[in-house]
Amino acid sequence: MMRVGIGYDVHRLVPKRKLILGGVEISHHLGLLGHSDADVLTHAIIDAILGAAALGDIGTHFPDTDARYEGMDSLVFLRDIAAKIRQFGYEIGNVDSTVVAQRPKLAPYIPQMRATLAQTLGIAVGQIGIKATTSEGLGIVGEEKAIVAQAVACLSNKGGQT
Ligand code: MG
Repeated sequence: MMRVGIGYDVHRLVPKRKLILGGVEISHHLGLLGHSDADVLTHAIIDAILGAAALGDIGTHFPDTDARYEGMDSLVFLRDIAAKIRQFGYEIGNVDSTVVAQRPKLAPYIPQMRATLAQTLGIAVGQIGIKATTSEGLGIVGEEKAIVAQAVACLSNKGGQT
C-alpha cells in the first residue's frame, strides 16, 4: 500500500541566528528563528512523512513548549520520525521538497542537503529531491522576512499495522 503526505513550514528570518536548511549550515547574514534550530526544510519533510503515516505532526511529537528541544538539531527529530514510521511497518519511497527563499542562492548547498537528509532518513540520495525558488520579491519571502518550505513524502506499507 502506498501513502502520500504533505508538509509545510515557515520560519521568520532574523539577525544573530544561524541559517540551517536540510541540516546544512548556510553562510548568510540572517538566520531562522525558532525553538529548535528552526530548520524549516527538515520540519516540512518531517510533517510530510508523519502525514503519510497519519501519525500527527511535528508539534505533537516535539512540542515547542518542551525545554529539551530548545536549540535542538532538527536532524535528531527527523531520525526519530524515520525510526517511528518503520516501527509501524512503513518504508520511505521518496521525498520531494521545495524551499522558497529570496536569498541566499541555495543551489550550491543542495547536494550536501540531499546527502545529509538521505543519510539521516536511511535512504538513497536518489530518493530525495530538493528544489529552491524565490518568490520574485513578493510577500514575506520576497521581503526576506521568512523562508518557506514544502514537502511531499511517499511511504509504502507491506501490510503491517497502520
Ligand atoms: Mg518549524
